[in-house]
Amino acid sequence: MKVGVARETAPGERRVALVPETLARIQKAGAEVIVETGAGEGSHIPDAAYEAAGAAIVSTDELYAQADLIARVQKPTAAEVGRLRAGQVLVGFLQPLLDPRLAADIAARNAVAISLDAIPRTLSRAQTMDALSSQANVGGYKAVILAADTFGRYVPMLTTAAGTAKPANVLVLGIGVAGLQAIATARRLGGVVKAYDVRKETAEQARSVGAQFIELKSVADATGEGGYARALTPEEQHAQQEELNSHIAAQDIVITTAQVPGRRPPVLVTAAAVAAMKPGSVIVDMAASDLGGNCELSRAGETYETDNGVTILAPTNLPATMAGSASLFYSRNLAALLLTFIKGGQFAIDPNDEVHTATVITNGGQVVQTATRKLLGPSAPATASGTTTTGAANGAATPGGTTTGGAPA
Ligand code: NAD
Repeated sequence: MKVGVARETAPGERRVALVPETLARIQKAGAEVIVETGAGEGSHIPDAAYEAAGAAIVSTDELYAQADLIARVQKPTAAEVGRLRAGQVLVGFLQPLLDPRLAADIAARNAVAISLDAIPRTLSRAQTMDALSSQANVGGYKAVILAADTFGRYVPMLTTAAGTAKPANVLVLGIGVAGLQAIATARRLGGVVKAYDVRKETAEQARSVGAQFIELKSVADATGEGGYARALTPEEQHAQQEELNSHIAAQDIVITTAQVPGRRPPVLVTAAAVAAMKPGSVIVDMAASDLGGNCELSRAGETYETDNGVTILAPTNLPATMAGSASLFYSRNLAALLLTFIKGGQFAIDPNDEVHTATVITNGGQVVQTATRKLLGPSAPATASGTTTTGAANGAATPGGTTTGGAPA
């Protein structure tokens, strides 16, 4: 079979799904790799580096005509979906829970959609495939670097002949993967770091990377399903904002990373909290998108300074700004996932593999992942039984039942 690497077309996207370093693992599983010309450019990987790793460089037309599986980072455009052939497999961050229509469109092309953001994160075997974590890690690091760059003062305490510089106070709100990396990075830069999350179990995690955990009296533990946070009630939210305000006012840098799956991000930094911050302070809102952000005043994709001199950054794709590292880690995650599907040069879906049942969103012309199908409602293209089908419409995907097991070490 042929695994194809697509050139990303989303605005500002610089990552690439597979880097040359990882190709050997895929080739060893019996697959050939073809790469759309220029796919690695945004990550400073020339076509020649892919050729040196044994891949063939192809045009866009050749990619769609020849590849049995197309690997990408971002969702495809409508035009790219329109090029998919029956049985062709598409793998990427397809966000089926945010964009179930895309899944329906891919099913209508009779193609197989596999989404990396659907990997079961609590399954220890799947940790090497967890691209959400690897990309959040890059984002958490870069958020602090951006904040330090924007902040017009030292982050560490410095004692010099010209006197002493006080260390910056840094607050990290949301202690998931990105938040933990933000804490660790801010500590490495010498900041005095505090952190807060609604999930109580994060207190110990935050302390282990050097932050002081802030306990709020007004909000009880809000751990939800699957290790994620649940959405707070409006009363809890209000109490949380009120209590956070006094902490925020004392900070030089605030990094926000709070998310609730499938919901608008919670507002943790209100306009009143920003108004109480000192001039020169910096907020980096990692949760900002068209849905809103953790800071009431964030403008997704923009950086601006408020009237009271607080700079608010609301970057929407931090991993793309560190495309070299982000692509490398995404590529390793993707290879680990692909190797559960590809054995002896054949693609097969194993209906008994938890990773497969979670990540295969469409197959055989149907939307097969239960959560996505539910969002689409009764009109969803789905199997009558409501169970996951196996195999795809043509020879590109071998009908199911082949036991593929987990990712090789
Ligand atoms: P996320 O991006 O969904 O959210 C980031 C953080 O925001 C979370 O810690 C969440 O609790 C917090 N948050 C949400 N609402 C909040 C509010 N109102 N106030 C303050 N904080 C709020 O989370 P994530 O980084 O993707 O990780 C979420 C969970 O998944 C964590 O428990 C993490 O440990 C777990 N996880 C587990 C594994 C694994 O076991 N292999 C891998 C990755 C992630």
